[in-house]
Amino acid sequence: MSDCIFCQIALGKVPSEIAYEDDELIAFKDIQPLAPVHLVIIPKKHLRSLNDVTPENERLIGHLFGIIRRLAGEFGVAESGYRVVANTGTDGGQVVGHLHFHLLGGQALNARIG
Ligand code: 5GP
Ligand code: ZN
Repeated sequence: MSDCIFCQIALGKVPSEIAYEDDELIAFKDIQPLAPVHLVIIPKKHLRSLNDVTPENERLIGHLFGIIRRLAGEFGVAESGYRVVANTGTDGGQVVGHLHFHLLGGQALNARIG
């Protein structure tokens, strides 16, 4: 989608600090990091949110979580711990309408949820 910032990142039309890329996924550093390690992992395919995930996407989402685990190791937070967040919809605080997962770590994160 031409008006979607994450589609533009996936197409390489908007620059980002890429941490991982393959045919289906891209992971990049968040432009406004909330923790020492703050990556955004997205499918290149435009899905609006978790609400768009169907059984046909299950292999893709499984692959995505495998890459998250790998990135946690590469960025040195696998043992210290990290958080994976998918803000979904208005009440979930989703700003960018392209399915994405935040990987946050490198410090003790606030335990409060909600
Ligand atoms: P949301 O609130 O939708 O879950 O989070 C969207 C995230 O995308 C935010 O943390 C924001 O900083 C990040 N973001 C938005 N635009 C860009 C961009 O152009 N480049 C990068 N690297 N991150 C972005
Ligand atoms: Zn998109």
